[in-house]
Amino acid sequence: MTQRLDGRVAVITGAGSGIGLATARRFAAEGAKVVCVDLDAETGAKAANEVGGLFLQADVTDEEAVRDLFQRTVDEYGRLDIAFNNAGISPPDDDSILTTGLDAWKRVQEVNLTSVYLCCKYAIPHMQRQGKGSIINTASFVAVMGAATSQISYSASKGGVLAMSRELGVQFAREGIRVNALCPGPVNTPLLQELFAKDPERAARRLVHIPLGRFAEPEEIAAAVAFLASDDSSFMTANTFLVDGGISGA
Ligand code: NAD
Repeated sequence: MTQRLDGRVAVITGAGSGIGLATARRFAAEGAKVVCVDLDAETGAKAANEVGGLFLQADVTDEEAVRDLFQRTVDEYGRLDIAFNNAGISPPDDDSILTTGLDAWKRVQEVNLTSVYLCCKYAIPHMQRQGKGSIINTASFVAVMGAATSQISYSASKGGVLAMSRELGVQFAREGIRVNALCPGPVNTPLLQELFAKDPERAARRLVHIPLGRFAEPEEIAAAVAFLASDDSSFMTANTFLVDGGISGA
């Protein structure tokens, strides 16, 4: 595989599963040193072990933990080139505006949106010192279009990630820091499987709207993240990068 990330140091949150795990594998295959961050000590450590990287257990909603994880990365490897802020949770059951309770709403904003704010806040100063960096924040296709399935708290959190990424991309462009939002369509990961297990008809309803006629595999999303992380995307920032099987174009 082309070594586009040779010598680069990358932090991936939610690296123990799904899109994060596939990206940890892809980054390592392209030559990066990978810091795997996850709340789950077992899956996170397993991922780090597999890719020969460092495992840091952290809750990305905890400000001190996030500040520490970026500092520890720089202490260990001397730099920070890539931050893939990806950890997230699925919508609560029956996530409609009429039924979602305030606590469930707040929890989704905290894990999916506040975590990205914290990760950007503590990654950017390290990148400013280097005059270069690439940040990829995981949003979702539901940030750019309404979904027939009720997921109001989830969609709102991802819309926030998208808006924040655009703003930061514009703000820090002249300092050599690129910030892009990744918007996957439905991806075959534990997050999606859990959602469909609760509501099997949801899968069929989703599939109908995907022009490519299937869900993505995590490796297909990881390939897009590696592109955004590498210099191959050097003229891209503040971008909404849809990898969605055509769902938003239909
Ligand atoms: P996943 O459940 O397979 O993996 C998520 C990982 O994040 C898990 O390892 C989990 O332990 C970790 N995590 C959760 N909360 C955390 C916290 N507070 N601190 C640290 N780690 C935490 O999910 P996935 O499908 O790979 O999703 C990854 C990202 O992609 C999420 O932001 C999700 O919203 C987004 N996304 C997923 C899909 C999809 O269809 N799977 C589509 C669009 C966007």
